[in-house]
Amino acid sequence: MNIEPIATVHSCFTEKFGIPRQPLLADASRAAIELLPPLNTPDAVAGLEQNSHLWVIFQFHQVAGQWSHKVRPPRLGGNKKLGVLATRSPFRPNNIGLSVVRLIEVRTHPKVELIVAGADLLDGTPVLDIKPYIPYADAIQGASSEFAEQAPAATPVKIPEAVLAIARGYRDDWGTDLEALIQQVLGQDPKPAYQQPDPERIYGMELCGFNLQWRYRDGAIEVMAMEKLGEVAQP
Ligand code: SAH
Repeated sequence: MNIEPIATVHSCFTEKFGIPRQPLLADASRAAIELLPPLNTPDAVAGLEQNSHLWVIFQFHQVAGQWSHKVRPPRLGGNKKLGVLATRSPFRPNNIGLSVVRLIEVRTHPKVELIVAGADLLDGTPVLDIKPYIPYADAIQGASSEFAEQAPAATPVKIPEAVLAIARGYRDDWGTDLEALIQQVLGQDPKPAYQQPDPERIYGMELCGFNLQWRYRDGAIEVMAMEKLGEVAQP
């Protein structure tokens, strides 16, 4: 089978660290899925706007390392192993990922692109296919997963006024609610679950063209700074 990407993701997540572990955990994130030739035509996306949500099938193109039969999912504190096929780990045969995202807009000018919310996708992710999410067939009443029954509890996040001001400026310029995104991204605690927070350490991640820095104090995350990294870009 020959698989060619049909689209590329442009997102605020320019490094893997800190990306939400599932899509709907960060509804404030905005991404543009840019269709590539030969699918970059209005015809290929005609009618797609009739759907509130989409399935995105993609390649985990930046996995470093090999898959193995058993993995330690972050949901289980990173210290219990499950079969790779019993998890959503990116380290898997064929490196194929599946995310449901909320469709905000279908644009056909100047590029053919889909603006979506909630994508847990790295900037530059190759998209292999896109399908409408069909609630009657895809939303299953009474479905269960003992492994991940509920969304993880959010860690409290404190953001200082100076950072809030930068986030408001970004929102005015680009439309993304960066304050909400910081809350959602840090609220799920990007640090590996098996690691105790080091109270002396400053942690950092790239988000929407900024270097976001924080530390752990008294069970909460305190944002320390958010510095611009070169050109700030909107997906
Ligand atoms: N919803 C998807 C992804 C779950 S794993 C699925 O169930 O298949 C989510 C993690 O994938 C994120 O935390 C992020 O670090 C990682 N990720 C996202 N895009 C990636 C990419 N292009 N290459 C490698 N890892 C990626």
